[in-house]
This record gives sequence, C-alpha cells and structure tokens, in this order.
Amino acid sequence: MDKICLVTRNTHKAEEISAMLGEHELSVLDLNDIGYHDDIEEPFHTLYENAHIKAATIHKSYQIATLADDSGLFVEALNGQPGVRSARYAGDQATDEDNWQLLLRNMEGHVNRKAFFCTVVCFIHEGVAQFFEGKVHGTISKSSIGFEGFGYDPIFIPEASTKSFAQMTPQEKNSQSHRRKAIQLWLDYLKAQV
Ligand code: IMP
Repeated sequence: MDKICLVTRNTHKAEEISAMLGEHELSVLDLNDIGYHDDIEEPFHTLYENAHIKAATIHKSYQIATLADDSGLFVEALNGQPGVRSARYAGDQATDEDNWQLLLRNMEGHVNRKAFFCTVVCFIHEGVAQFFEGKVHGTISKSSIGFEGFGYDPIFIPEASTKSFAQMTPQEKNSQSHRRKAIQLWLDYLKAQV
C-alpha cells in the first residue's frame, strides 16, 4: 500500500494525518484529489455504520485503501444525544452555535453533566474493513467558554482540565482529542503490519 484516500474534503485533516504518519511512506489523498465530488449520505444510527458506508463507497469505486471517520458528542443525561446527529442537532441547516445553544437549553436543570466525544475510524484495504475508536470524557459547561475550535468545543471541558476545548490551542486540543486517539490506534495497527 503506497497511498490512501481520506474520505474528507477538509485538506487540514489530510495534512494533520500526513504529519502523524511521520516516516511512514504513504501519500495521503482526499476526495478532491481523487476527483470524487458527490455527497455521501450518512443514514445510519451508529458512528460505526456511518464511517463504514463512507469508506466502502470510495473503496468500491476506486479500489484504493480508504479511511473514513465519524464523530459525535454523547451526553449521559440526554440518553446519548446528540450522538450521531451532532452536526444536525438543531436542524439540517444548523450552525455550530445553534447546536451548542440547544444543548445548553436541554441541559438546564440536569445535575449530571457528564459527556464524551467519540470518533470511529473505518479503514478498508483490499476489501477488508477494520475499525478504531477514540473517546475523550468530560463535562458540559453551564455556558460557553472560549472561542477556538469548532462544534461543541465551547461547552466541553475534558476530564483533568480546567479549560474548555475552545480555550485550548489546536495543538493542545489535538494531542488529547477523540479523533487523535482513534487515528493513533490506526497508525499503530499500520506500523505493526510493516
Ligand atoms: P464529524 O463526523 O467529524 O464531521 O463530526 C460530526 C459533528 O460532531 C461535528 O459537526 C461537531 O458538531 C461534532 N464534533 C465532532 N468532533 C468535535 C470536536 O472535536 N469538537 C467539537 N465538536 C465536535
């Protein structure tokens, strides 16, 4: 395997993963690089199924090693919501702020503010799918704190930290994020194959 396609149009994600690969000789492409311009639906109720459909769609069409991820925020007091619907919690056209504002409203009166972010990565090579999962546990703040990052970062305080994700530099957040943990497991797997 000398190249891999990430199922994303986010060039930043591709750069971040290339940097993590270090000396591993692998060129990292994204959907724009391979010329795939259609949307891929994420119709399922689990991160696993959604990550799998994204990776499988590209792998089938291009017969290239493929990596897809799907993430969400799971809040204990809300029975795991917003979960797989994190991006669209306040509606299909919702902004990040619409989503975290709705979450704060839905958390009013709840004493248990425990939550976790989860990323599932699906890697498909020569027709075989493998899954890797990363989590970061923490709590939902009572109001928004900080301006960095994206999504629910302003209302999520990871365990063992006094800062929200939105108060951290990208390096500080990425070093402990759910996405980083899942991708690190995948990298460990790849390195073990050599
Ligand atoms: P995706 O699968 O990585 O696109 O994540 C789906 C949604 O989960 C995003 O649109 C965000 O609302 C939320 N989310 C995932 N990861 C993070 C994160 O690191 N910080 C804040 N929100 C996140």
